[in-house]
Formats: sequence, C-alpha cells, structure tokens
Amino acid sequence: MSSTSAVPANTSDAPVFARLALVGIGLIGSSIARVARQRGLAGHIAIATRTQETLDRARELALGDSYHLSAAQACEDADAVIVSVPVGASGAVARDIAPALKPGAIVSDVGSVKASVIAAMTPELPGHVHFVPAHPVAGTEHSGPDAGFAELFDNRWCILTPPPGTDAQAVERLAAFWRGCGSNIEVMEPEHHDLVLAITSHIPHLVAYSICGTAADMETVTKSEVIKFSAGGFRDFTRLAASDPVMWRDVCLNNREAILEMLSRFAEDISAMQRMIRWNDGEALHDMFTRTRAIRRGIIQAGQETDAVDFGRPHGTAPAAPEAEEPDSVAQE
Ligand code: NAP
Repeated sequence: MSSTSAVPANTSDAPVFARLALVGIGLIGSSIARVARQRGLAGHIAIATRTQETLDRARELALGDSYHLSAAQACEDADAVIVSVPVGASGAVARDIAPALKPGAIVSDVGSVKASVIAAMTPELPGHVHFVPAHPVAGTEHSGPDAGFAELFDNRWCILTPPPGTDAQAVERLAAFWRGCGSNIEVMEPEHHDLVLAITSHIPHLVAYSICGTAADMETVTKSEVIKFSAGGFRDFTRLAASDPVMWRDVCLNNREAILEMLSRFAEDISAMQRMIRWNDGEALHDMFTRTRAIRRGIIQAGQETDAVDFGRPHGTAPAAPEAEEPDSVAQE
C-alpha cells in the first residue's frame, strides 16, 4: 500500500506542537530543530542527547529552548517527541522515555529502517501515546549538530509508516509538521519502505563502501594515484562512503532481509555485465547503459537532483598537485 497524504502545510501562525522534544541532535535532529525554529513549527523545543559534549554544542548553536542529558526529562509534557538516534538504539531510547510520556503525545522517529524500529519501540511505549514512525528521505554524509541545516528537508519525501489502527489525527498532525519542514508526505507499509530504501539508499551505500574498500586495499595502483585521478568517477562514491559508520552498521543489521535480497540481485546483474564484457556483447552493454541513463533524467525531472554538470562542482581552479608522499588513506570529500 502506498498513498500520498492530503495534509496541508502549517499555514496558520500557531505552532504544530506547543512542546517538541528532540531526542538525538545530530544531522537530522539539528536540522529538525533549525527548521522548526525558523518556521515557527514548535513553541518550545526541548533537546536531549546522551553526551555532554554534543549537548554543549547544541546549546552553543542555540538549537533549542531547553537542554537535557536525560531524554525522559526532555519528553516531560511534550506534545511530540522525535527520536533521531542510530536505529539500533531506538528500542533503548523508547524504554527510557516511556515513563515520562504524557497521554496523547505523538512519538515518532526518523530511522532509515522501519520494520525493525517499529518492532523495537512499540513494546516499550505506553498505550496512551500515538506512535507514528517516519523517515525523512534526506541527508548528507556529515554527522553531528553542526552538520544540520534548515533547508535539508525542502522538496524531499518524508515517508510515514503508521502501524494499522494508528490514530488518523496523530498521523495528520505529524504529516503537517513535516510539510512545514518542507517535505512531501508518502504513507507506506514498513516492509515495503524497507525494500524500496534497500535499493535506493542501502545498496548504493554498500557498493560505495565496497569500491572505496577495494581501492584502499590496492597494491598495484597506489592510493595517491587513486586520489589524484579520482575525478574519473571514484570521488562520487567517496561521498557516500564517508557516511557515518555507526548509522550504516545499524542500517545493515536492521534491514538484513531486504538488503540481502537486493544484494543477491545486484550480484546476478554484475555477473551478467561481466559476461557481456567477456563475450564482447557491445549491443547488450549499450542497451543497458541507455536504460540507466533514463533513470537519471527521471530523477532530475522529479526535482530530486539538478542537471548541473559534474554535480554542480565549481571548476575555477585546478587542485594543487599532491605532495610526493603517499597518504595513509583514500580521500573522502
Ligand atoms: P548523527 O548526526 O550521528 O547524530 C546521532 C545522535 O544520536 C546524536 O545526538 C548522538 O548523541 C545520538 N546517539 C548516538 N548513539 C546513541 C545511542 N546509542 N543511544 C542514544 N543516543 C545516541 O546521526 P544522524 O545522521 O542525525 O542520524 C540519526 C537517525 O536518522 C538515524 O536513525 C538514521 O538512520 C536516520 N537518518 C539519517 C540520515 C542521514 O543521511 N544521516 C537520513 C535520514 C535518516 P551523542 O552525540 O551525544 O553521542
């Protein structure tokens, strides 16, 4: 099942939530804080994170109205709680905050995997709250509170995966919040979400990790040569491969079935391509490359990417030639 919600953006002056608690204030949590503040989507923003260092940084950046090392304390009296931590930690966070949640509160998350997060959080949450899982399909390879920005969600999809029987008004309120953040809303079943994201996000990241790992292990091509000639295509993989290791470890472990299914299809397709090259099947290669080119055009037409040459990179000055010595590791953008 997949349907687009008809919830309008927050056009009134009233905030969508009088008190919003953000548990986790990295790239996603801090982007939510910034956009909620900028567009008046929340009255009071309570911020919680587990380390003093990140909390201090959130305070320095003035991301919220109150700052807490206890997630439960931040959630007291909150109308909505958005959990933005690595998916493997979501069950433990739900357990921590459960006693503090007020009746009727909306609890949501932003995890890149949905079925396992729902399985981990649902049993921990009290029956008197509305659990509306969500995934904003927007991000960068950077982490932490400095990495966020208010425009991150503009014209990006936010997928809601409410379990059957979830209060419709709660779903609509959360959708209104995300529309206020600039997102378009799609409602999906969690298992379907996990399959779609396996192919559109998880496999591309794994392929990038794998290619960068292969390059790092090369013996006959030096690392400095890989870096020097990276504009040939390699550097576009390095952006994905620079993503947060904890986040991606958790995504792999929590979306095992869908990722393994997509990886075996991918392995079959790579073998087919190997065969085309081995047997000099230029026609098959040309057909395939023509089909794939159309996918990029479709993404640009859908407004999810620009058609700026070379991903819009400026080409004013050539980079300085690297020093003769070989760097320790492959460069990441
Ligand atoms: P991030 O920048 O690394 O921030 C992670 C936040 O979670 C920090 O506040 C961190 O606290 C806290 N945290 C880390 N481990 C924790 C644990 N074991 N228990 C409790 N809190 C913990 O991460 P992010 O990129 O915002 O990702 C957060 C979530 O968004 C993930 O579930 C990810 O799947 C999802 N998501 C990410 C992207 C993306 O592109 N990055 C896109 C869409 C969705 P301290 O700093 O205090 O340790």
